[in-house]
Amino acid sequence: MTTLDIGAAHTQHWIGGAWARSDASGGIDVIDPSTELVLATVPAGTAADAHRAVRAARAAAPGWARTPLAERLRFLERLVRRLEERAEELAETITAEVGAPSLLARRAHVGLATGIAASYLDIAGRFEFERMIGNSLVVREPAGVVATITPWNVPLLLTLQKIVPALMAGCAVVHKPSELTPLNALLLAEITAECDLPPGVFNVVVGEGPVVGAALTADPGVDLVSFTGSVRAGRQVAQAGAGALKRVHLELGGKSASIVLADADLAQAVRATVDQVCFNSGQACLQWSRLLVPAERQEEAAELAAQAAAGYRPGPPRDPGTDLGPLVSAAALQRVRGYITQGITEGARLVAGGPEPVAGLDTGYYVRPTVFTGVSESMTIAREEIFGPVLAIMSYSDEADAVRIANDTPYGLHGAVWGGDLDRATAVARQIRTGQVDVNGGPFNLLAPFGGYKQSGIGRECGVEGLESFCEIKSMQLPD
Ligand code: NAD
Repeated sequence: MTTLDIGAAHTQHWIGGAWARSDASGGIDVIDPSTELVLATVPAGTAADAHRAVRAARAAAPGWARTPLAERLRFLERLVRRLEERAEELAETITAEVGAPSLLARRAHVGLATGIAASYLDIAGRFEFERMIGNSLVVREPAGVVATITPWNVPLLLTLQKIVPALMAGCAVVHKPSELTPLNALLLAEITAECDLPPGVFNVVVGEGPVVGAALTADPGVDLVSFTGSVRAGRQVAQAGAGALKRVHLELGGKSASIVLADADLAQAVRATVDQVCFNSGQACLQWSRLLVPAERQEEAAELAAQAAAGYRPGPPRDPGTDLGPLVSAAALQRVRGYITQGITEGARLVAGGPEPVAGLDTGYYVRPTVFTGVSESMTIAREEIFGPVLAIMSYSDEADAVRIANDTPYGLHGAVWGGDLDRATAVARQIRTGQVDVNGGPFNLLAPFGGYKQSGIGRECGVEGLESFCEIKSMQLPD
């Protein structure tokens, strides 16, 4: 049974500062992935619902754009405070709909999300909304009405990563959360109202991507679409946006590499890579799903990785002993198990985990943390994003070969380099064609821009660049 108490209001759209019924006749069941029980039923929103929310945002946009920055920042201060006050409730909602273990939900899902929101208090204070270049007054103006579309894996964080800079820039927002995890977004809508955000500045429409997401992307009242999700859906959004030559930001998938150089501390690098691969049950876009090691150390790396993976305890997310929650859905479980089976069929050597069910967990979408070694570049598990706790260990001959293998993917989101010499490791990191690379476990930095090269996306979120992406730039040439 779930412990989550969902108010009836939290199962409607949020439009124009109020709960709004849908035109939809049907609903979408939100499932708890640990119990497989229905948590709540939300409307299967229609295109008409999406257009109604865009009209509300358009009506509110001019007033919010004119609101002085100091006042917009006061809203943000209230938001950060309220997110902290309601952190437990948000974390419980995320545990219920994503399946994230309680501590992870509290620290990473809600803690980091609040941290991202707070980072914009700092960034907005330092951002040059206006400056003179010669005789030109260059101003950053709000991009207008923004549609934000997000996935289910770290839903609150990915939502705040978009809506906070959008609201700071002076945009009005229509948000479409994933249909798998809409409840935290509806709670967030209520929280924004508690922080006195004027009605219509932030709206939430729930529903399927090809219906609500597609309607928002096509709506001429939307100036910019900020999308996070799969390459497949990102391509559809880009195509739909191209019709109206709409600005489209894309944060898409990844197949990142963790490169262990010959002089690295192998045990530390392998441990950190396995931990990162198991983060959020492997459901993270920046996952280092390929571990690249010198050929002569592959055996040792495989043993270390197998030990680390075996230490993970899959289990119910509210159980304090659990450090690996379920995958988000039955479809995700089937997909991940399918990849593991394919890895075995294609000849990779399984050293931990496997496609079999987790012993003792008959209900819930659980998968065993899995490690393959002897993975070659052509294998499916080395090429496709699995989105589960599955690591592929690959060997390289020299540094140039490691860089070549790391870059041999259509993705370019993230990565890691480990080495005894920081300058040398950083030099290797410079050669990796991705938007972020961690060197020797350098910690996550909320102020650093985040985004993808190649098919991992277009544009950047977080930091100054994240705020910039929700602005239009105007130059006014003044007389001498
Ligand atoms: P998804 O692409 O299936 O769905 C993402 C969102 O897009 C959902 O809200 C969905 O309803 C909507 N959508 C689907 N089709 C659409 C369409 N035609 N038009 C408009 N909207 C549409 O992805 P998912 O399964 O929810 O999430 C997993 C993917 O997200 C992975 O590929 C992962 O790497 C990626 N991701 C990327 C980042 C990043 O920052 N780069 C972060 C998290 C997740």
